[in-house]
Amino acid sequence: MNKDLFIKELEKIGIEPTSIQLKQLEVYMKFLIEYNSHTNLTAIKEPEDIYLKHFYDSLVIARYHIFTNEKVLDIGTGPGFPGMILKIFFPNIRLTLLDSNNKKIKFLIELASKLGIENIEIICGRAEEIINKKREEYDIVTSRAVSNLTTLSELSLPFVKIGGYFIPLKGQNKEEIIEAEDAIEILGGILENEYNYELPIEKSKRTIIVIKKINNSPSKYPRQYGKIVKNPLKKTSK
Ligand code: SAH
Repeated sequence: MNKDLFIKELEKIGIEPTSIQLKQLEVYMKFLIEYNSHTNLTAIKEPEDIYLKHFYDSLVIARYHIFTNEKVLDIGTGPGFPGMILKIFFPNIRLTLLDSNNKKIKFLIELASKLGIENIEIICGRAEEIINKKREEYDIVTSRAVSNLTTLSELSLPFVKIGGYFIPLKGQNKEEIIEAEDAIEILGGILENEYNYELPIEKSKRTIIVIKKINNSPSKYPRQYGKIVKNPLKKTSK
């Protein structure tokens, strides 16, 4: 997807990028490619793939949720997807980017400065540990390509305030959603919507899952990562 097609496809989902935003994306692209040449940040390396699989894919969420000034957390943001892209297009969100990998955090801090973005929080840490300082603080928690939905729900839903939303970006996998139903309920969530879409050009299938937080997450969650993975939350398990 070249830049012209990127702009056209965004228009179809109701987003008209300003010249400042397009310039910021160019700066992002250049810095990502340059940094990736010496430090591994992403397997996606070609500009056309970056426009499609990183920039465009990060923005589709805006078709289903109107961002204003909410408090937003992106868990396992890597080199900033989808969080940093949302911040470029919706500068009024109060954004926290979280990743456990220090080299990605270093990249993000430099990137934010290059983009002229100051009001952003960039944290190096694991979701299971950071939760102690941030429990039920966020209006929106999002995450892409971090883990299966059951694990991800335990890592993410405890950060969402009641009335807020956990909106993960996933591939299309109905089984995965069904499997996560118990975990979502135990953690105080309710599955509100699933939006299926195809990426333009390569047509790979994606789902945006919208989970509303209706009850507090019990304070024993999230557990340590090993336990989350070994003993996925099920209504019959303790
Ligand atoms: N969201 C980005 C990166 C996905 S790779 C994208 O879609 O391109 C997954 C990232 O999650 C990695 O950078 C890894 O360091 C981070 N991660 C994995 N488990 C985590 C945890 N428990 N807490 C915080 N970050 C985590």
